[in-house]
Amino acid sequence: MSLTLQGIGVSKGICIGPAYVYYRELPEVLEYSISKFSADDEIKRFEDARIKAQQQLNNIKNTISGDTPHDITLFIDTHLLMLDDPVLYEDTVSHIRARLCNAEWALQVQVERIVKVFDDMDDPYLKTRKDDIIHVTERIQRCLMNEPDLNHAEDKLGDHLKGRIIVADDLTPADTLLMQHQKIAGFITEYGGPLSHTAILARNLGIPTIVGVHDAKHLIQANDLIVLDGNTGKVHINPAKKDIAHFKSLIRNERQRRKLLFDLKNKPTKTKDGLKIHLHGNIDRPDDVRTLRQFDHTGVGLYRTEMLFIEHNRLPSEDEQFETYRRTLRSLKGHPLTIRTIDLGADKELADTTQHGPLIHNPALGLRAIRRCLKDPSLFLPQIKAILRTAGYGPVNMMIPMISCISEMEQTLELIEQAKAELKSRRIRFDNNIKIGAMIEVPSAALVADSLANKLDFLSIGTNDLIQYTLAFDRIDDEVSYLYNPLHPAVLKLIQMTLNAGETQGIQVSMCGEMASDTQYTRLLLGMGLQCFSVQANSLLDIKHIINHSEITQLRPLTEKIMTLSDPQEIKLAVEELNLRFL
Ligand code: PEP
Ligand code: MG
Repeated sequence: MSLTLQGIGVSKGICIGPAYVYYRELPEVLEYSISKFSADDEIKRFEDARIKAQQQLNNIKNTISGDTPHDITLFIDTHLLMLDDPVLYEDTVSHIRARLCNAEWALQVQVERIVKVFDDMDDPYLKTRKDDIIHVTERIQRCLMNEPDLNHAEDKLGDHLKGRIIVADDLTPADTLLMQHQKIAGFITEYGGPLSHTAILARNLGIPTIVGVHDAKHLIQANDLIVLDGNTGKVHINPAKKDIAHFKSLIRNERQRRKLLFDLKNKPTKTKDGLKIHLHGNIDRPDDVRTLRQFDHTGVGLYRTEMLFIEHNRLPSEDEQFETYRRTLRSLKGHPLTIRTIDLGADKELADTTQHGPLIHNPALGLRAIRRCLKDPSLFLPQIKAILRTAGYGPVNMMIPMISCISEMEQTLELIEQAKAELKSRRIRFDNNIKIGAMIEVPSAALVADSLANKLDFLSIGTNDLIQYTLAFDRIDDEVSYLYNPLHPAVLKLIQMTLNAGETQGIQVSMCGEMASDTQYTRLLLGMGLQCFSVQANSLLDIKHIINHSEITQLRPLTEKIMTLSDPQEIKLAVEELNLRFL
């Protein structure tokens, strides 16, 4: 029977494929008795499951790419060793024989015993090995239960998810990063808003995604045929043949449209009346430059460096960071690279740190981004030095996230001077005149943008956070995502203030939030005076097409009128009208 569910389309595009229902937790293990005569069969079933688990791990090990972080490969080796551990194996076999119970139960009893031993240890390192035991046991349990696939990080590196549509309660940015090693067709999650970093990552990877599909995991069964329509937010489960044919034709049309857009690759970005516009791309990882260059040979206006920390799940050293940034710069072949210093916190966290400390009720308002860096210069200084060093080899800008007051910027500038002095004393090559800018993503920063502009070389408007903080809604909570409105007059006023501050102080203002990647706002932003866009690679040519078919002289007076309106609905209609004029 076919069924359609409605969610929020956060990454456009349509895809068709079998569902993979992603469970974090294992189904409950039940105990049942076996007869004395079937004990050997039960032990054989256990042994087969153990061998299958071993094969899965070896397959993953053989298929992962060379640039997979060392921690992950090490983690697979550790699990392989544990599968051979006699304590786990022999005691489970003895338990099956002695208690005449099923293998799942015998294994469960063993693991609980081992976990208790680990819990009683004082050594914090050994304590963490407990997680490995649990993961290995879960893998055998899933093989015993004939579950088609497993759900741990290393599984996401095989290719058994290729062409599938992942259905999950929620995905962390780390999940998404690991899964991108496979050719996943699409993502459906029960929770999460359009501005969550997982949604942004999915958009950057060009993977159609729908979030906020409540109960998806109950309503969708493994291997159901799914049509995911990221444009409308609709999930069609086992649709009729004629509907599948319809969606296939939409996919073909979109492919055709995108093919035509490719004529714009490497062509100038310029309005019809001759105003040159800077159009750059956003990246999360060095490899994303390759994707960006498929669309245009251009610079990067936002490199979210925290993904490097999240992917490795640790703090990379100054040298490691320098190597990574320099590789990224090299692959841009002379185009500028704007490196944003780490924005860790809120929904971007290292896996280990999420487990400790008091419960943070409002992480988006907490010790995030520059706040965390200023609190812990030992975290920040290696990155500043790595960026300064990279700038010694080409056009690099340093961008600071989440600035909310002038004093944060002043402290940051002092730390940058300290880093320069250290590099000087180490006689290491760096750029003393690197351009430094701040992201305007907190309303207070927009309100003092003129003072910030006075101290800096550029500003960049981060609309994802700016809109979240202005309209007081949590960007990762699908229940309040309806409040996301870039056309709210309060948001437009803050954007206009920032653009005006840049103009008065003669510095560049760019926009790197998702609003810049959305074609419905391009003309409004041009009319407001934005001349530098940094967008997702996937939308780059769409945005270029609109810019190249716009006339600033016509847009300006129309935009001025829109800026006098106070009703968001009226603004929306006026912007739609503005867009229609240029069709
Ligand atoms: C933003 O807030 O608009 C932005 C670009 O930063 P991030 O999405 O990484 O928070
Ligand atoms: Mg932000």
